[in-house]
Amino acid sequence: MAHLWQGVINEYRDRLPVTDSTPVVTMGEGGTPLIQARALSELTGNQVWVKFEGMNPTGSFKDRGMTMAITRAKEEGAKAVVCASTGNTSASAAAYAKQAGMRCAVLVPEGKISMGKMAQAVAHGADIIQIDGNFDNCLDVARKLSDSYPVFLVNSVNPYRIEGQKTAAFEVVDALGDAPDYHILPVGNAGNITGYWKGYTEYSRPYVNAVGEELPAVATKTPVMWGFQAAGAAPLVAGHPIDQPETIATAIRIGNPASWDSAIGARDESGGLIESVTDEQIIEAQRFLSSRDGVFVEPGSAAGVAGLIKKYREGAAPTGAKIVITVTGHGLKDPQWAVKGAELEDPTAAEPKRVDFDVVSVAAALGLD
Ligand SMILES: *Cc1c(COP(=O)(O)O)cnc(C)c1O
Repeated sequence: MAHLWQGVINEYRDRLPVTDSTPVVTMGEGGTPLIQARALSELTGNQVWVKFEGMNPTGSFKDRGMTMAITRAKEEGAKAVVCASTGNTSASAAAYAKQAGMRCAVLVPEGKISMGKMAQAVAHGADIIQIDGNFDNCLDVARKLSDSYPVFLVNSVNPYRIEGQKTAAFEVVDALGDAPDYHILPVGNAGNITGYWKGYTEYSRPYVNAVGEELPAVATKTPVMWGFQAAGAAPLVAGHPIDQPETIATAIRIGNPASWDSAIGARDESGGLIESVTDEQIIEAQRFLSSRDGVFVEPGSAAGVAGLIKKYREGAAPTGAKIVITVTGHGLKDPQWAVKGAELEDPTAAEPKRVDFDVVSVAAALGLD
C-alpha cells in the first residue's frame, strides 16, 4: 500500500505530546534506513544492523527531537529559539526554525565545529554566536538566556526533544518485529540514549497516552543498552565531569552531559554498560564502516561501531545476537577525518593514479589483465 512517510510526529502521534490542533513543523524526518552491516556481522559473529541517522533532513538524528521542540515552540507562540551546539543541533535548529518562520540563535564553542555543520547554520540564516569556551559553557549561557529573555531553548534538556528522539526505538522495533538483543550508540550529552531507552521501554509494555487511551505493548522485551563515549570526553565513565574534554569526534566532545542521570538509568535498568573508545578506534571504525559496509558516517557517529569492535577484541562481545547500532550523523559533515582514515591504511589513498588516456593504461593501473 502506498504510504508517504509523514515525519515522526504524524507517524507516532498517539505516543507523543501533541493534540489535533498542534501546528506540526516537520521536514519528513525519521523513517531512516536500518542497514544490514554484513562485514561487521561477519567480523563479530552477530546479526548487526546500523540505523543510519545521517539520512535525516539535516543529516543527523537531531531532527527527530527538533521537529518536536520547534513544534512545541510554535504552539507556545515563540518567535525565536536558541541552542548550544557542537554542530548538529545548530544545523537542525536553524533548518526547523526557518521551516516554522522563526529566528534561530546558535551558541557554538570556539573553533571546534566542523566546516559542514557550520555551513548548514550559515545557509539557514542562523544568528551564530561563538562563545569563548566549550560546549558546556555554551549550554550554560543558552539556558540562562532562555530563562531571562523571550527565546525558547531547544537543547535536549527540553523534554520535547527526548520525546521526538524516542521514535527511533519505535522504528527499530517496527522494522525487526521486536526489540534487538543489544542497542549500541555514541553518548555525548546523553539525550539520545535517554530517548532510545524511553522508546524501548514504552513500546515493551501497555502505554497510556496523553489522551488516556491504553495502547498495547508492541515489543516483548527491551535491549541491553551499550553506550560509548570518546576517551578524552568520558565523564560518565570517569564518574565526574571533565573540565577540558578533547576528541576529534566533536559531536561527542562534552564534559558534563545534561542527561547524566537518565543515561546511567538506561545503562543500569537495561543491564548494559557505558565505556569509552579512543580517537584511533573511532577513526578505524569509521573507516571499517565506510570501506567494508558502504556506510559513511562522521567520526562521533562511529563511536558505537568502535565500541562493538573493541568489546569483540576483548572477548567481551556477544555472539549470535541481534545488534542495532545507531550511527548518528552523515560522513559528509566532517570529511577530513575520512580522508585521514583512508591514508592511515594507505598513504596514497587520496591521490588518484594518473595514467594516459588509453584503455590499456587504465586497465593496467587497475591491475586487470
Ligand atoms: C549530538 C550527537 C551525538 C551525541 O548525542 P547525545 O544525545 O548528545 O548523547 C552523537 N553523534 C552525533 C553525530 C551527534 O550529532
